[in-house]
Amino acid sequence: MRLLPILLFVVLAVVLLLPALRRIQLPARRVPRALPDELVKDPVCQTYIVKSRAVRRIDAGGVRYFCSEQCARLDTGG
Ligand SMILES: [Zn+2]
Repeated sequence: MRLLPILLFVVLAVVLLLPALRRIQLPARRVPRALPDELVKDPVCQTYIVKSRAVRRIDAGGVRYFCSEQCARLDTGG
């Protein structure tokens, strides 16, 4: 029986390679940590905009968010 050592080798190779193959096939658990975008109100045109995209103006009264540069300019400051 010359086949037995070959068979043993194949079995051994499969046993050794299987965990490695499983690791490759496993889907990468990459859950993007996307924070929910906060909505802020534009005090000029009363529109709700996404905070991250809003035009920001900081003054003594605090931070105000606007939908556009135009609205930010129109803001009288309270
Ligand atoms: Zn606006």
